[in-house]
Amino acid sequence: MNEKSPVRVRFAPSPTGHLHIGSVRTALFNWLVARQSGGVFILRIEDTDVDRNVPGADRQIMEDMRWLGLQWDEGIDVGGTHGPYYQMQRLDRYNAAVKKLLDAGQAYYAFDTPQELDVLRKQAEARKLAFRYPRPTRFATGEEAEQARRAGRPVVVRFKTFDEDITVHDEVMGDVTVGAAELDDFIILKADGIPTYHMANVVDDFDMRTTLVIRGQEFLAQTPRHIALQRALGYPTPRYAHVPTILDMKGRKLSKRDGDVELSSFRKAGYLPETLLNFVALLGWSPGGDREKFTLAELVKAFSIDRISRVNSKFDRDKLLAFNTDAIAAADPERLMEVFSDWLSVNPDSPLSRAGLDEPTRRVILEINRGFRTFGDIERKCGFIYQNDAAIPYDPAAVKKVLAKGDDAGYKMLQLLLPRLEGLEPWTAASLEALINTVCEEQSAGMGQVAQPIRVAVSGTTVSPAIYDTLVLLGKAKTVRRIRRLLVERP
Ligand code: GLU
Repeated sequence: MNEKSPVRVRFAPSPTGHLHIGSVRTALFNWLVARQSGGVFILRIEDTDVDRNVPGADRQIMEDMRWLGLQWDEGIDVGGTHGPYYQMQRLDRYNAAVKKLLDAGQAYYAFDTPQELDVLRKQAEARKLAFRYPRPTRFATGEEAEQARRAGRPVVVRFKTFDEDITVHDEVMGDVTVGAAELDDFIILKADGIPTYHMANVVDDFDMRTTLVIRGQEFLAQTPRHIALQRALGYPTPRYAHVPTILDMKGRKLSKRDGDVELSSFRKAGYLPETLLNFVALLGWSPGGDREKFTLAELVKAFSIDRISRVNSKFDRDKLLAFNTDAIAAADPERLMEVFSDWLSVNPDSPLSRAGLDEPTRRVILEINRGFRTFGDIERKCGFIYQNDAAIPYDPAAVKKVLAKGDDAGYKMLQLLLPRLEGLEPWTAASLEALINTVCEEQSAGMGQVAQPIRVAVSGTTVSPAIYDTLVLLGKAKTVRRIRRLLVERP
């Protein structure tokens, strides 16, 4: 079912680096329901865990989102009427909420040292009980808290939780109830005056008029605390939809050990943003039926929260590669040119980037690489063309098989070809084809016996695009130089 009335949703990453696949999915689902309902998509940065913040990560997040085409309506960089959108710029808002709770007797100061807390924890452990902070019978006054602070104790504020079960009506997971005994008096303001994640998150969702929270399932266990805080502060509870975890193919939580998980790595490897979004949409959501290929606009129409699965999904890299291959084959040439430019810009060290290819050459390269799976494939197949002649490493297996075998047959063929290539005028695919055909006939040789030695000489390997196309791009001078070098070096 589509979202009918306009939602206000937010994506609230912590600035710890580039987006990873899981966050991309969270951002996408939020963006989709916003677009579908004519609502508002907010980007806010949850930077209160100061030690984990990575400088510049907010810019990386914005770059990733824009590359994907998931533009936000309110938030960092673009502004809006419910800002600021960095949590560290909102401390006065959290302080006001904490004060309200303190004044209402719904929160209290605590100033236990870490050692004291440790003793309490160990006592609970010995009795095989989950640790719960023992609520004092009398709450300390502000003055007592101040004295404790002066005495060097860490003064925090704890929430006086409700002695009631709390039920989250989750739109994916259904009703999830946490018993009163499991809820403790958690910290809402740390000793350094910075609120905890719970406090900041709840205040922001209220201030930013969030009506629906879509986030990863790892946050579900925290949601009862958020609901308790909302109740104590007189805030409405937004709708919640917690999305199941993404696993690797072995059923473990998706992580780096299994390969790239950062969006920027997929961009660098040469995936199309629209393919990644299509693929990520299907991690935990299904449209029903067999259809798998969707444009972003089609996803906006088809997406619905009630078709998000409760079951964890698997990140199948092979399938993503197959998706990308299909998308490249189906993409119109102008789109491929755009993505190619983008790929070059994020791979400045690639020989293809350093060559400063002009537009017609880029078109030729795309054309002769037809069937490629990622833009990284193009580099693997064509990068050698733009390397220094002297920097081409020769693959020993290719040398042995193509050049040395049969009493140096390949080397001999190159010897014979060298002057004829040098004399070839003009240097075009057609003239090269004619020359190679003639040599095949004269020598009663197969195509491979003539073309493969050239290929190894110019690329160092047995793979390249079609030989004529390759040599045209390489040009006569470089072709001749590389063959000469090979004949001298005899690797
Ligand atoms: N800041 C949390 C994160 O880094 C998001 C919490 C939320 O969406 O409520 O994923």
